[in-house]
This record gives sequence, C-alpha cells and structure tokens, in this order.
Amino acid sequence: MSSKVDRLVAEAKKAQQERARSYREQALKILPWICGRCAREFGRERLRELTVHHKDGNHDNNPSDGSNWELLCIYCHENEHARIEDAKFEKAGTSPSEPIATHRAFEGLDKLLKNKKK
Ligand SMILES: [Zn+2]
Ligand SMILES: [Zn+2]
Repeated sequence: MSSKVDRLVAEAKKAQQERARSYREQALKILPWICGRCAREFGRERLRELTVHHKDGNHDNNPSDGSNWELLCIYCHENEHARIEDAKFEKAGTSPSEPIATHRAFEGLDKLLKNKKK
C-alpha cells in the first residue's frame, strides 16, 4: 500500500518539477532577461539567479503569453514574497502578541551580552 503512495507522491513531484522547468524555459524565451524590480540584466552564465514569479501567486496559472509571469532576481523575488507575507499578517491581525515576546527575548540577550563584556 505505502509503496503505491510513495510512487504517486514521486510522480506528482516529478510532474511538478517538469512543469516548473517548462514554464521557466517558456518565460525565459518570451521575456527579456531583466529583473522586474531592480532592472539588473542577466546573461546566460548568471541566468540561474533569475527566477519566475507568478503575479497572482498561483504556480498553476501559466498562460503561454506570459501574462502571469514576471522575471525577478532571487533577491527581489525573496523581497516580493516577504512583502506578500507581511500583507497577509497585517490582514489577519495575528502579529500583536509576537513582537512583545521577541522584544523580551532580546532584552534578556542584551543583558547577557553586557555581562560578558565586563
Ligand atoms: Zn532584482
Ligand atoms: Zn514568486
């Protein structure tokens, strides 16, 4: 039984990887090799650092005209997603309790560091 599940999972993963590879190739074919945020240009040797971002966040939405794709360098891509995550937290209102705990932890750390210096 479990080997069948394993096989299905492996197949799904493979299909996903293949799809990812094909939309990346397609995107690189029709879009200029420039980061959409910092406007850095990429040549073939650095192309690995250029990634495909899905404008609507849905990796299954891959229209062949490229209207859902944006080429971003890995740094801007990370920023873009951090921004999206922040927006999510703001909407959900889940953040208020967390910063206090973090602040306390850092307060303690600060004292520890000061003691060490003495
Ligand atoms: Zn960039
Ligand atoms: Zn993305």
